Amino acid sequence: NGVPSAKLEKVENILKPLDLGDDDYRKVMDLMHAELVKGLTPATHEAADIKCYPTYVRSVPDGSENGDFLALDLGGTNFRVLLINLNGQEVKMESKIFIIPQHIMLGSGIQLFDHIADCIFKFMTDHKLTDRKLPLGFTFSFPCRQEGLDRAILTTWTKGFKCAGVEGNDIVQLLHEAIVRRGDMKNVKCLAVINDTVGALMSCAHSDRKCAIGLILGTGTNACYIENLDDVKTWDGDTDEPHEVLINSEWGAFGNGGALDFVLTDFDRSIDKHSINPGKQIYEKMISGMFLGEIARLAIERLRKNNLLFEGEGSYHLSTRGRFYTKYVSEIEGDDVDNFTVTKQIFEELELVTHNEQDYRLVRHVCSLVSRRAAYLASAGIACLLNKMQRKEVTIGVDGSLYRFHPFFHDLMMEKTRALTDAQISFKMMLSHDGSGKGAALVAAVANRLL
Ligand code: ADP
Repeated sequence: NGVPSAKLEKVENILKPLDLGDDDYRKVMDLMHAELVKGLTPATHEAADIKCYPTYVRSVPDGSENGDFLALDLGGTNFRVLLINLNGQEVKMESKIFIIPQHIMLGSGIQLFDHIADCIFKFMTDHKLTDRKLPLGFTFSFPCRQEGLDRAILTTWTKGFKCAGVEGNDIVQLLHEAIVRRGDMKNVKCLAVINDTVGALMSCAHSDRKCAIGLILGTGTNACYIENLDDVKTWDGDTDEPHEVLINSEWGAFGNGGALDFVLTDFDRSIDKHSINPGKQIYEKMISGMFLGEIARLAIERLRKNNLLFEGEGSYHLSTRGRFYTKYVSEIEGDDVDNFTVTKQIFEELELVTHNEQDYRLVRHVCSLVSRRAAYLASAGIACLLNKMQRKEVTIGVDGSLYRFHPFFHDLMMEKTRALTDAQISFKMMLSHDGSGKGAALVAAVANRLL
């Protein structure tokens, strides 16, 4: 479309490293498989990038779960308290968002859990539940080493939390101590801690028994899957039927030991260098919502500095780290190429002065390269799990704004996962609805039945 070939060649050279081939994705799968096995083996667990923590969740719901349950959801965008009524396939839910003020996010663990207990009490008072005996499920989406369904030791705070005296401790015990300090909530007992991946899996499994993988594509990325106990060498629980346990892979940390260096671009290295956790969560930094916009921005800036975009003229916003949001990537890719209305609007928000149709097309191309690489890398992870599990039919329960709102993420993932997965395995991807609330209630219900 009238672009001189010398310019095209320069553009191509700058963007080529973002365009990986199937050989690369297959290598990612092999390396991930090796890391999963390392994580599941006591002698190599410490050194493994992918920790593969057993969750102590042993089965998916069977649809007979009944009754009222409380749930807490901490570690997503909002802190919520929920009341969930399960009745066969019917699920009723009421919830309230509570604010966790900055001074509590950075205060002491005691303050945090006292605040959480206060919120539970307020919620119960509002819903006239204070004299009911209610089992509670806690979706706590921070990396934890679990020692039981109701024992979760926080390994490290992430996502802006840094409360003293919690890392290395059992969060259920801290919650119960706060409940005891209040003295007026004796009937509330936390039966289970899960993370958001387990919530996504459980909530989808409630309506689809074939669901065996939970995937998060939001601020971060992580996945859990059902593993055979024989392959979980780190397992110290009982070996009753079903001979399986859900494994929280914490796969976002893949690449921490350098395994992904062969696919990193200058853009990825720059993001890592300027992050709050350099050298950590390498796979996550190539895939998740917290980073995709920034990868695109760095590529756009590189093109602009080479006079290949906007006639070389940038803006303060475009040179500001984090200012090109991941939602722009979705919006630009979803824009109508006949008029680029949304793209123009975004360029105006960024206070770019000089732009024409060639720029719209090229920026859209950059966005599509960045999101395609992310979707394909996530697909390599899913294909690796599918090939490892060797179940004939698997449903993947997915949650997170990136998957939910990007116009092509689902299609890209279906296509590449199909290409990388053994031919005899069939799979589908299903959006999880309120997995963090519903999943916690379902796990609490199963635990309550076994009491
Ligand atoms: P969390 O993972 O914290 O529970 P979300 O699933 O809502 O929350 O994910 C938030 C992330 O999703 C943010 O990093 C944000 O950049 C990204 N995001 C929000 N809207 C969109 C969108 N329209 N397209 C792609 N990514 C989005």
